[in-house]
Amino acid sequence: MKCEDAQNLLADYSVNGLDGEIRRKLEAHFAVCSHCAYELELLWRVVSFVESAPQKSPPPGLWEGIEASIHRNSEKMEREVGTKR
Ligand SMILES: [Zn+2]
Repeated sequence: MKCEDAQNLLADYSVNGLDGEIRRKLEAHFAVCSHCAYELELLWRVVSFVESAPQKSPPPGLWEGIEASIHRNSEKMEREVGTKR
């Protein structure tokens, strides 16, 4: 299977799992192609997030948490840059 074929099947696979021969071929491709395996992992994260959030909006506090972690990281980077000067 080519990457192009695998990419076309990714969404179906992440939602339905697919079955039979096509699933076997796709899984064989993921085993040898880290790029497609990575795409699948990203897609699974999105699918599981959407399924865990039926109200179709981010859970309260999610963005605050993301902002806080971005802020922490940028502070850390500033400290690291600072020590190199
Ligand atoms: Zn591939």
